[in-house]
Amino acid sequence: MTDAANAPRPKDWIMAIAPYVPGRSSAGDGRRIVKLSSNENPLGTGGAARAAFAAHADGLSRYPDAGATLLREAIAAKYGLDPARVIYGTGSDEVLHLAAGAYAGPGDEVIYVRYGFAVYEIAARRVGAEPVIAPDRDYATDVDAILAAVTPRTRVVFVANPNNPTGTFTARAEIARLHAGLPADVMLVVDQAYAEYLDAEDDDGAMALAATAPNVIVTRTFSKIHGLAAERIGWGYGPAEAVQAMHRIRAPFDITSAGQAAAIAALGDDAFVAESRAHNARWRQWLADEIGALGNHGISVVPSKANFLLLLFAGTLSAEQAYKGLMDAGYITRWLPGQQLGHGLRITVGTEEETRGVAAALRTLAEARG
Ligand SMILES: *Cc1c(COP(=O)(O)O)cnc(C)c1O
Repeated sequence: MTDAANAPRPKDWIMAIAPYVPGRSSAGDGRRIVKLSSNENPLGTGGAARAAFAAHADGLSRYPDAGATLLREAIAAKYGLDPARVIYGTGSDEVLHLAAGAYAGPGDEVIYVRYGFAVYEIAARRVGAEPVIAPDRDYATDVDAILAAVTPRTRVVFVANPNNPTGTFTARAEIARLHAGLPADVMLVVDQAYAEYLDAEDDDGAMALAATAPNVIVTRTFSKIHGLAAERIGWGYGPAEAVQAMHRIRAPFDITSAGQAAAIAALGDDAFVAESRAHNARWRQWLADEIGALGNHGISVVPSKANFLLLLFAGTLSAEQAYKGLMDAGYITRWLPGQQLGHGLRITVGTEEETRGVAAALRTLAEARG
């Protein structure tokens, strides 16, 4: 018998989640289009990772190593960490969910900044916790605002560094001040999805804190500079107890064998990472300069240390018009009205041709509007 009124009901806090909206990958009309909406590596995947992935075709009948032993050891060797304290997941997205799941639940609060990564809200709500949004300072993370938002119910603070979608960076001293200002029973999760794009002197110190403090977790991903977004491999580092707790709630076998092998190979491919970083630095600066030259059209750019730029529109050409116009011109970018950024457009740094092309298309749109 079907009786809608008595049907099982999803938890209220689940139904309060606004679904994650991924970057679009097509214009919807079959046109070939350049995807600059998901911060993927425009150089693709390094040769070593591709070869390791391909070599796995013979192992498809076997379950993956649920303990990701070799991957954890490779990560630990690369960064000077304890392999037992490396957590991993289906993308770092999963690790963010695991952190929220281990430390927050109904009645608890999870803080992140306005214009922060969209997954934090979902991770908080999914476990029944209350998201608390701290105001930004010029689009960047404001440590004082986060500290002011802390209450006795705060359990987790998420900070992306560099931040997405703004590209802004929080310096080492500020991360240290944030950590020092948080109550000891609050877990600070520093999401370093773009850390490999930073210059060496921009180490934010979070990994060193995760190695020593009982309340810091750092997350990293193979999806961005390593060019392995399709394989969904992320990892994190933190206190032994946190890692054990997160292990208990993760789905076993959820990172693939081929993905683990490709990730290990990617970790050893310093040349590809260096090439990707140099390409990004060069064309990010070029694109920022081009957009800077559109200032008389009310278009500006937020200083970025990641592999994308956030453009702000205050003139006659709106962000929505630019988004649609660029789509018509063959470029998918990320317009973010769902994140209170109806006036912003995020553009991933592409290949030279793509980056030149999107800049030229934007200039045409801006000049047409006067
Ligand atoms: C892209 C991104 C991630 C993670 O991506 P995964 O593919 O799930 O590893 C995490 N945090 C931020 C801020 C990102 O931009």
